[in-house]
Amino acid sequence: MAFDTPGHDTAAFGTKGPDQNLEPLTIPRRHVGPKDVAIDITYCGVCHTDIHFGHDDWGMTTYPLVPGHEIVGRVTSVGDEVTAHKIGDLVGVGCLVDSCRACPSCAKGDEQYCQNGATQTYGSPDPHLGGTTHGGYSASIVVDEHFVLRVPESLDTKAVAPLLCAGITTYSPLRHWNVKPGQKVGVIGLGGLGHMGVKFAAAMGAEVTMITRSAGKGEDAKALGAHRVLLSSDADAMAAEAGSFDFLLDTIPVGHDINPYLQLLKTDGAMAIVGAIDAIEPVQGFNLIFGRRTVGGSLIGGLPETQEMLDFCAKHDIVCDIEMIGMQDVNEAWKRVQAADVKYRFVIDMASLKGDA
Ligand code: ZN
Ligand code: ZN
Repeated sequence: MAFDTPGHDTAAFGTKGPDQNLEPLTIPRRHVGPKDVAIDITYCGVCHTDIHFGHDDWGMTTYPLVPGHEIVGRVTSVGDEVTAHKIGDLVGVGCLVDSCRACPSCAKGDEQYCQNGATQTYGSPDPHLGGTTHGGYSASIVVDEHFVLRVPESLDTKAVAPLLCAGITTYSPLRHWNVKPGQKVGVIGLGGLGHMGVKFAAAMGAEVTMITRSAGKGEDAKALGAHRVLLSSDADAMAAEAGSFDFLLDTIPVGHDINPYLQLLKTDGAMAIVGAIDAIEPVQGFNLIFGRRTVGGSLIGGLPETQEMLDFCAKHDIVCDIEMIGMQDVNEAWKRVQAADVKYRFVIDMASLKGDA
């Protein structure tokens, strides 16, 4: 297979091995093709997935790795056939930069479930340049217009970046399971995902309960819009709420026992898992059969729904709660993410990489 010659080099931060710190790198970006958009990256969020990939936790990383899939920036150039974006537009790129566009999932706008394998923003085989795709810990990127989102100018730009992964990951299941005003919704776990789940569910009109083991996190969730707090470590409180929830959004990032949560669901209630990709502890059939309850999972969202989410955020004035860092601070930030020591997302100011901060 013949690959394109690169269009330009760009400054980036990446890692050369599972035990290495991130360091300055120079990476190639492709020529701007007829349907491509070139973006000067202004902000990029730090997602826990970046760290899993960086450390090769899932055994699928190719090095060097340039992570980052919560990208916001300005369009600097467009191809001849681009119609959706123009130079100067504020735009975003999330977890996907391409897909087959032909399978049933792509035809429905669910590109994240592309049956031929979507191209991830980083770490996927790069069909243009060979090697693997490189993400948003960089000064610029070139992406097909279909995978570039319009970012509403009314929102706080730097706090928009994490919407492209943490935001859509929680918005999509709330929409898929038709969360409605007045429904009782529980958000399990308060981190980068959970804090967005609380904001979205409240904006959709649900009565939102933060379900957490930590009383302190319950108070934080109330500040984000949660109406109530349920301590999962309090067996009496859990029993008192049994059978009362319409929907549960489970954002816990590692495998865990979901049986105590399933008992919180009403008849026909549903629980969506969005955080844990490793093994879930055995589920008691009793907890599903009695009450016709369902358990599902959900992965980010397709391009149409991600645009809908950004527009919903503009209408309801929703962004992420963030802590800004410079590119040189990213190794320390990764350690703090692993220690759950951030409220609730780090965002890298890419001016620090370009030397104009
Ligand atoms: Zn992510
Ligand atoms: Zn497809």
